[in-house]
Amino acid sequence: NSAVRDRLRIAIQKSGRLSEPARALLASSGLSWRESRDKLFCYGESLPVDLLLVRDDDIPGLIADGVCDLGIVGRNVLVEQAGERAEAGKPEVFREWRSLGFGACKLSLAVPDDWTWEGPSQLAGKRIATTYPNLLRGWLREQGVQAEAVVLNGSVEIAPRLGQADVICDLVSSGATLAANQLKPVLDILQSEAVLAGPAQPFGDVRAELADLLLRRMDGVLRIRDSKLLMFQAPRDAVDQLMLLLPDAEPPTMCAIDGADTLSLQALCHGAMTWQRLEDLKRAGARGLMVLPVERMLA
Ligand code: ATP
Ligand code: MG
Repeated sequence: NSAVRDRLRIAIQKSGRLSEPARALLASSGLSWRESRDKLFCYGESLPVDLLLVRDDDIPGLIADGVCDLGIVGRNVLVEQAGERAEAGKPEVFREWRSLGFGACKLSLAVPDDWTWEGPSQLAGKRIATTYPNLLRGWLREQGVQAEAVVLNGSVEIAPRLGQADVICDLVSSGATLAANQLKPVLDILQSEAVLAGPAQPFGDVRAELADLLLRRMDGVLRIRDSKLLMFQAPRDAVDQLMLLLPDAEPPTMCAIDGADTLSLQALCHGAMTWQRLEDLKRAGARGLMVLPVERMLA
């Protein structure tokens, strides 16, 4: 699709697990929209970036067809459809641009409770029910195991009880659904989370700059998701020890107070700042600990 366009169009899930966090991420990146009456298209107001609200399975195809420029979708869906295209001899047209840190889940292999799991070779000749046949076949190929993928679009976990399959390969929620169906997870085939998907080739028009701007802002939002500004005071000779407790901190800003024996420090920390960590810092000599929220960051 070579049409020159001056607006960027992003596909997100209309309703489901990824829709709220996807909207929240884009809103934190400074986008705002006017919703159309049918709520399928949202016109970008703060920037020329529009949203298309669709079923998650349609997102890779919309990018492939050039209908949308970017999309927010589970890695499981993206990798599955990339595999499908590769299988059909089609070129790579979309790929993962960023992992987004929400919508985490695993594509796992689960077997009947009463199996004693001995490893992948046990699957030889078995029927495996799944919604992700390409991911599964790719994995089986890597393992050198011959087994049959039984493709189902829903209720994969009851397939063994119905006699449609021997084992399943499915997204694992809490594991409760598996247990209710007398299944147990034995192997993870893919660690998934929501990703920003985009074209494999760069944009050739103004969309390149828009996408760059959006990526820079999203990176800023993702970087500070768990970040806090930590402020404290400490004796000069305790600082090295204290910084060992802060492996997730940026190099701190330090200034001497109280003559020169006490330092006042501030450091941006990227991991969660729990009470436990603060107590550990205090034991190592930190005083006047203060944790402040970070609202925006531009690297
Ligand atoms: P749609 O109507 O858009 O097709 P859906 O039913 O296919 O919706 P959801 O169940 O909302 O999709 O899941 C969307 C994505 O959320 C999945 O593809 C997966 O990447 C992710 N996800 C996170 N946790 C889970 C989970 N426990 N079970 C299934 N998917 C999960
Ligand atoms: Mg779907």
